[in-house]
Amino acid sequence: MEYRELKNGYKSSLLGYGCMRLPLMDDGQTVNEVETEKLLMKAYKNGVNYFDTAWPYHGGQSERVVGKIMKQLPRESFYLATKMPAWFVNSLEEAEKVFKEQLEHLQTDYIDFYLLHAMNRGSYDKLKNLGIVDMLQTYKDEGKIKNYGFSFHDDYDAFEYIIKDREWDFCQIQFNYVDKDTQATMKGYELAKELGVPLIIMEPVKGGSLASIPKDVIGPMDEYRPGLTPAAWALSWVGTFDNVKVILSGMTTMEQLDDNLETFKEFKPLSDAEMAAMEKVNEEITARSQNGCTGCKYCMPCPKGVNIPRNFAIWNNYHKFMNRGGAQWEWSQMPEAERPYSCVKCGKCETMCPQKINIRDDLEKVGKEMKELFS
Ligand code: SF4
Ligand code: SF4
Repeated sequence: MEYRELKNGYKSSLLGYGCMRLPLMDDGQTVNEVETEKLLMKAYKNGVNYFDTAWPYHGGQSERVVGKIMKQLPRESFYLATKMPAWFVNSLEEAEKVFKEQLEHLQTDYIDFYLLHAMNRGSYDKLKNLGIVDMLQTYKDEGKIKNYGFSFHDDYDAFEYIIKDREWDFCQIQFNYVDKDTQATMKGYELAKELGVPLIIMEPVKGGSLASIPKDVIGPMDEYRPGLTPAAWALSWVGTFDNVKVILSGMTTMEQLDDNLETFKEFKPLSDAEMAAMEKVNEEITARSQNGCTGCKYCMPCPKGVNIPRNFAIWNNYHKFMNRGGAQWEWSQMPEAERPYSCVKCGKCETMCPQKINIRDDLEKVGKEMKELFS
């Protein structure tokens, strides 16, 4: 197992266990504790020492199940990470209560890596104004938190604002070979490195999409390392960056765990030639987009409530990754009123689109295709 050094003398396995996609019972909701224990124990025995959970994962079950299983092991032999749910707390007292309950769920008296969860500029300001950012620093001073950081979902400017606002022990961003220009972006990676803030990576396989990309796209990579799976290529790309200290993978099955353990057993960063070939894979994936929507939202709001960029994102991602399950889930999460069927073809949006997209025609295509696929 590859290990990397963070701050404060901490040394973590490069592969971290993301506990947001644990195996479920037949009801599709209850975490299967027996299977989860087999997975976490196997990961631990094979050198994984970073286990990441959060208050909302599996409706609160994740923290409890992880706490119960990890309790069997010597506490100093692994790291626990969990997070303060910014959207859930509206006062210092509520944040205090959440933290206390998290310690109880995890059956521990300290958290190794504690994060402000899913920060954007607004949620960070909220936690600061409520005094929660300072309160958690006090917890760190008291030893209840060993490393203090934040996880991030916003644009580069917000990332720069938050990361420069105080001294952080680490931060967690979305980073993979097709998402170099979204959220914190590659510029954010460089900034964190320059500031000496170690990075924990989430979505290295883009929610599973990069594990199932078509063979004709990833196939040419066989020339370099025959038989490496698409997921292994994605993880290896992320691990090639030296300020990446932990790569979180939300493993649900033993097969996924075994594949990931194999990747990190004797981790080999990608060579320059392999990085260049991966860039070609990225270009090939991008070329499968159905239109050039950048998600800029200049076309919004639509007077009829159609969520134009969201429709196009689902459509383009489906064609790029051919991840039917992922697209179906995204589609099911979108309210009916935001779907293309509400469009009355007034054309107002098209006058605003810098990409000159024929929005009305494309929305019609999205609506037709999604209906054929998912109804
Ligand atoms: S053409 Fe359709 S999507 Fe565009 S603004 Fe009009 S109703 Fe909304
Ligand atoms: S203005 Fe054009 S590019 Fe921007 S989100 Fe709307 S459709 Fe996409």
